[in-house]
Amino acid sequence: MKRIVVLGAGESGAGAAVLAQKKGFDVFVSDMSKIKDKYKALLDKHNIKWEEGQHTESLILNADEIIKSPGIPNNAPMIEKLKAQGTPIISEIEFAGRYTNAKMICITGSNGKTTTTSLIYHIFKSAGYNVGLAGNIGQSLALQVAESDHDYYVIELSSFQLDNMYDFHANIAILMNITPDHLDRYDYKMQNYVDAKFRIVQNQTEDDAFIFWNGDPIIQRELKKYGLKARLCPFDEIKENGLIAYTADKKVYFDQPIAFNMEQEELALTGKHNLYNSLAAGLSANLSGIKKEVIREGLRSFKGVEHRLEKVADVNGVHYINDSKATNVNSCWYALQSMTTPTVLILGGKDKGNDYNEIKDLVKDKCVGLVYMGLHNEKLHDFFDPMGLPVKDVQSMKDAVAACAEMAKEGDTVLLSPCCASFDLFKSYEDRGEQFKECVKAL
Ligand code: ADP
Repeated sequence: MKRIVVLGAGESGAGAAVLAQKKGFDVFVSDMSKIKDKYKALLDKHNIKWEEGQHTESLILNADEIIKSPGIPNNAPMIEKLKAQGTPIISEIEFAGRYTNAKMICITGSNGKTTTTSLIYHIFKSAGYNVGLAGNIGQSLALQVAESDHDYYVIELSSFQLDNMYDFHANIAILMNITPDHLDRYDYKMQNYVDAKFRIVQNQTEDDAFIFWNGDPIIQRELKKYGLKARLCPFDEIKENGLIAYTADKKVYFDQPIAFNMEQEELALTGKHNLYNSLAAGLSANLSGIKKEVIREGLRSFKGVEHRLEKVADVNGVHYINDSKATNVNSCWYALQSMTTPTVLILGGKDKGNDYNEIKDLVKDKCVGLVYMGLHNEKLHDFFDPMGLPVKDVQSMKDAVAACAEMAKEGDTVLLSPCCASFDLFKSYEDRGEQFKECVKAL
């Protein structure tokens, strides 16, 4: 019997183990950290053997194939050993893709993945399609394939998931943008990260579609290198030759396969970045045969996603916005760009090799104060202090919000859009966003 070892027992690992068990493999799950109770219960329910707090070599190196959690870096010691002995290492999505004939709509990019994925799912659901939401959000693809397979899946793919995908095939691949992120996992080489993102188009055929933001210089450069077979579906803000989704005269246009338009102000999501997200989502729905009335209504009625430019409250005339998910510099750029009143910005956390030059001009234009929130704020001091704005150094959310309340005047906005990961002071970006909301509400 072929042996499959799953490394990492989070949502994806636990789901992969259940599917592997169901398909008759000899399955073992190993996690270096503590496994959450709900995943232990799932594994136990399916009589799957597991260990936590360690990787027992003798139980892992004898695997025929490894399913690796995207959270485990490729240079982790156990992964190095497996690679050295030639054991194939795949991702949960790659594995689950082998056991379903569903149509796959896959979304990647440095920013906008979750918003676009959720919006597409919302439109497909409204259309009455039998659709599952998977990847970085929702239930793992593997568990859905094991328990209640769907006709369509809308899948958010991170570069880490793409790293270990080889034969998987996206019917519709969407690449929102590519800007530096996670360079610490790619030997600080941008090209490695770019290559990972482009894995989304591998195995696509003439029957498939590749949707991408036409304005992205890296995507344009890379496209020239690939002889893509898929139908190319570029979108951008302003009408240009070759685009099949764009805006003109305050309207949003989708030209193919069915031509239709709608008023731009009817879009539920606002801001330039969200226009891109709406264009990509509308296009994928149009390509999937969803009626134009349903697409329009879906783009109108979407409620947005928590921690992404989420309005929290107005306190003493100051608007508080939670954009905790802005874990890289580019997403903060879009957040600042959409600010319409003087802004006090909270930024900082675990730096992933950030270059703050990208937001320098916007900080000058829009910000009236900066609050550095992290264990190591030196880099922020060195970069931003010379601008002469009021700055404050804090190491907790409570102090950050108090500092903002002091700096902001009536009519200003306080924006949490940190450019960094949260792990120095918080459990996750969600925890950071929740704490922000609680502190604001307690003001
Ligand atoms: P991801 O899942 O790729 O991290 P999200 O949809 O969660 O993306 O959005 C993360 C942050 O990125 C948001 O807070 C927002 O400020 C910014 N953002 C969203 N969409 C885009 C886009 N298309 N381009 C650039 N930035 C975006």
